[in-house]
Amino acid sequence: HATKRTMADHLRRFETLFTLTPQRMRIIVSSFKETLETGLDKPDQTVPMIPTFVFGWPSGNEKGEFLAIDLGGTNLRVCLLNLQGNGKFEITQSKYRLSEEQKQDDGQKLFDFCVDCLKLFIEANSGEDGILQLVPGQKIPLGFTFSYPCKQDKIDHGILIRWTKGFGSPNTEGKNVAEMFREALSKHDLPVELTALINDTTGTLIASRYVNPTTKIACIFGTGCNAAYMEHVKDIPKIKHLGIDGDQDMAINCEWGAFDSFEHEHLPRTKYDIIIDESSNKPGEQAFEKLISGRYLGEIVRLIICELIDEGVLFLGQNTYKLEVPNAFDTALLSLMESDPTDELLMIIGLFSHFFALETTLAERQFLRAIARLVGRRAARLSACGIASIVEKMGYIEEGCSVGADGSLYNKYPGFAERIHEGLVDIFGERGRNIVTHHAEDGSGVGSAIIAAMTKERK
Ligand code: ADP
Repeated sequence: HATKRTMADHLRRFETLFTLTPQRMRIIVSSFKETLETGLDKPDQTVPMIPTFVFGWPSGNEKGEFLAIDLGGTNLRVCLLNLQGNGKFEITQSKYRLSEEQKQDDGQKLFDFCVDCLKLFIEANSGEDGILQLVPGQKIPLGFTFSYPCKQDKIDHGILIRWTKGFGSPNTEGKNVAEMFREALSKHDLPVELTALINDTTGTLIASRYVNPTTKIACIFGTGCNAAYMEHVKDIPKIKHLGIDGDQDMAINCEWGAFDSFEHEHLPRTKYDIIIDESSNKPGEQAFEKLISGRYLGEIVRLIICELIDEGVLFLGQNTYKLEVPNAFDTALLSLMESDPTDELLMIIGLFSHFFALETTLAERQFLRAIARLVGRRAARLSACGIASIVEKMGYIEEGCSVGADGSLYNKYPGFAERIHEGLVDIFGERGRNIVTHHAEDGSGVGSAIIAAMTKERK
């Protein structure tokens, strides 16, 4: 009985730490909006608001065969897209897993690996009855979805500003990654031409719009988190010198995961967030992302559990070494904990005994699930703050809009979308219901192909 009371006390403490009030959210939105504006105004800001050189929305009638390669935080995907117009397309894709070593290995090797996978994919899908019909002498346009912040001054070029999401390959930051990719391509005789370098968020924006004309914003909630939207060129003062017609629109890759980096004055960070930051390979950076994305949420919960083990609150008398390993608690486990439908929380029993060789009491399981909820809910509500800052900046609230969203956290974490929607209502009141998120299926790959098609038309 005594333990139970202690756990309830602890839970109240965590509720206070992880709960965001509507008022606090509105304050975050207001500083977030200012940050977005500063990023458009001045070069080299913390939230860099990167001009993508993707001009305007797709018509929905882009057609043809395109390849896309998508270097995500966890997987490498190669896609063949057959765009059919009218917002319709067919996609064939293969996934290749990236090892932790590859993420730290020399940069050129990473791009060589991308091209090796591309080659395998083409070989597997072309030939007699393959879906890919190669025409001798003709090159297939390829969109390269590269989901790390790059400085671009045209669509098929991009200097990596810095690695995020745990990547650290040397000899890549500060270099033109499109050129490194071409270098890798040149080592093989492939009927492929790199025509566009695209961020996954920008790809998702364009792909969502292709199928849903009310789309105005896109977000990714996966290993990392980010957003993109369409901006008026005249409202991007920092590129005025390029002399681009101000009446055009250009997609902006916000790289909003960096919001509140270094200064740490806007976001409510707990001591667990600070531990994660300080033990990460990039301390100080990606402050917003570290509170939200899949790479970190499980770890936040693990740190809380470890603290309570040390304090003698959880798993008394058991050997907890398996839980004491950094990153041992994947965010997917939070999803499982939150989705347990049984009163006895049988899924959580199984999960702790299977992965960590630990027995749990019902009180412990209820407590653990409550912690998962707090951390998951805070992530979704902070995401709502980010979306709201773009909505407010662009004045979309009255008319409303769709937000194309993708990433495992959005797609698989139970209630993540609903919590974002609740957050939007907390920020905007009833009008918050005008903003609706939608899953953008295969967004980054499809978007890359559509942008490759738009680029072809523009040339
Ligand atoms: P990426 O962002 O690398 O392209 P994903 O969108 O699949 O790929 O995101 C991977 C991240 O999502 C990982 O950090 C992983 O921990 C997390 N994740 C994977 N499955 C789930 C799940 N079922 N629920 C919540 N998070 C998940």
